[in-house]
Amino acid sequence: MKFGGTSVADVERMRRVAAFVKREADAGHSVVVAVSAMAGETNRLVALCADAGPPDPALDVRNVEYDAVVASGEQVTSGLVALILQKMGYRARSWQGWQAPIRTDNAHGKARILAIPEEPLGDAIDNGEIAVVAGFQGVAEDGRISTLGRGGSDTTAVALAAALKAERCDIYTDVDGVYTTDPRISKQARRLDRVSYEEMLEMASLGAKVLQTRSVELAMAYKVPVRVLSSFGPPDAPTPGTLICDEEDIVEKQIVSAVTLSKDEAKISLMSVPDEPGKAAQIFGLLADAGINIDMIIQSPSRQAGANISFTMAESELARAVDALSLAKEKIGYVQMLSDKNVVKVSVIGVGMRSHTGVASTMFRALADKSINIQNISTSEIKISVLIASEYGELAVRALHQAYGLDRAQGAA
Ligand code: ADP
Ligand code: ASP
Ligand code: MG
Repeated sequence: MKFGGTSVADVERMRRVAAFVKREADAGHSVVVAVSAMAGETNRLVALCADAGPPDPALDVRNVEYDAVVASGEQVTSGLVALILQKMGYRARSWQGWQAPIRTDNAHGKARILAIPEEPLGDAIDNGEIAVVAGFQGVAEDGRISTLGRGGSDTTAVALAAALKAERCDIYTDVDGVYTTDPRISKQARRLDRVSYEEMLEMASLGAKVLQTRSVELAMAYKVPVRVLSSFGPPDAPTPGTLICDEEDIVEKQIVSAVTLSKDEAKISLMSVPDEPGKAAQIFGLLADAGINIDMIIQSPSRQAGANISFTMAESELARAVDALSLAKEKIGYVQMLSDKNVVKVSVIGVGMRSHTGVASTMFRALADKSINIQNISTSEIKISVLIASEYGELAVRALHQAYGLDRAQGAA
C-alpha cells in the first residue's frame, strides 16, 4: 500500500492512512506500506537546497547532498505512520532506504533501483510486522543516500511489490483512479476501470503525473497488478479505483483511452543547417554527449539554404542544449538558433490506434476547429503527440477529450 503526499499531509491524515492499513491487516494480509513526504515537504526541501548552493551545483555536482536533504521528508512520515500503527496495537516499524535496503545506482537525484533483497524485510513480514518503508529513497552503490526522482515513491512501492512477490500494489492518492485526462484540467474526465500497462506507460511519460513512469515500467516488467485508488473515501469501504493490467484483461477497448498534457517542454530550431550527410548525427551526437534527452524532431527544407532542424527536450535541459549548440555553431554550420519555452505537448493515447484509421485526422481536425497551430508532431504505435503554444494546452486537451468521445455525457460507461 503506497500513500502519496496529500494522503499523509498531517498527522490526522496519517491516522486515516493507518485505518486503511488496519483494514488490510485485519483481513489477514501481510502489508508493506510505502509513504511519501508530507504534501509540500519535498518542494520545501528542494528550495532549501537551491538556496544553500547554486541551482546549477558546482559543488554538489553529483547531487549527493541534495539527496541527503530531500530524502528526509520520507524519513519523517515513515516514522510517524509506524508510531500511529503501534499505538493502534500493531507491530510496525519504519524502514529507511538504506535499512531495507533499496539498492540503487549512483545517479543521485534520479537513481534507479537495482535490487531489493528479500531479507530483512521478508523476515519482518514473516514475523507479523507491518513494514513502513520510506518511499523515494535508497542507498547508492557509493554507500550514500539516493533518491529516485520526483514522484519516486510510486516506484518504491512497485519495486517492493515485485521484490516481495506481493499479490498487488495499491497506490493510494488524492484521486480515485486513473482518469481519461487530468481531472484538474477537465471536469468531463472519467475514471477508467482498467488501463493496460502500455497505455499507462505512455500516459505517465507524456504528462499524467498520477504514476511515475519508472513505476509503470517496473510493473510491466514484473507483471505486478497495480491499483490506483483514493485515500480520501471511507477506509472500510474503498472505491474500486483503476486496475493497471495486461491488455488481454481488458474487455472494452477504446480507440483512444486518454489525453495528456506535458508542460515541461522546450524547443530549439537550427536554421539553414548544411544539407549534407552526417549533420543530424553531429547535432544529436553532441546533445547525447551533453546528456540531453531529445524528443520530437522535425527537419524541413529551408527557404534560404540547407535545412531547418527543430527538436524538443525538457525545459530544464534547454539552457545546456543551447550552450552546447552555441559552442558548435561553426562546426555544424547553421546560420541561426531559435529557442522557445512557450510550448507544451498534448497527446492522445490508446491501444485501439493499432487497428483503426482516422485517429490522427480526428486530432488535427479538432485542433484546427479551435484555431490551434501545430508546431511538431510525433507518433508511436499507440499515441500521437503534438507540440503547440503553451496558452492553448488546456483548451486542446478539452477539445480532444470531446472529439474522441471521452466526455462524461458522451461516454457509454
Ligand atoms: P501523490 O502525492 O499521491 O503521489 P500526485 O500529485 O503525484 O499524487 O498524483 C495525483 C495527481 O495526478 C492528481 O491529483 C491529478 O491531478 C494528477 N493527474 C494527472 N493526470 C491524471 C490522470 N489521467 N488521472 C488521474 N490523475 C491525474
Ligand atoms: N516526495 C517525493 C516527491 O514529492 C516523492 C513522491 O512523493 O513520490 O517527488
Ligand atoms: Mg506522485
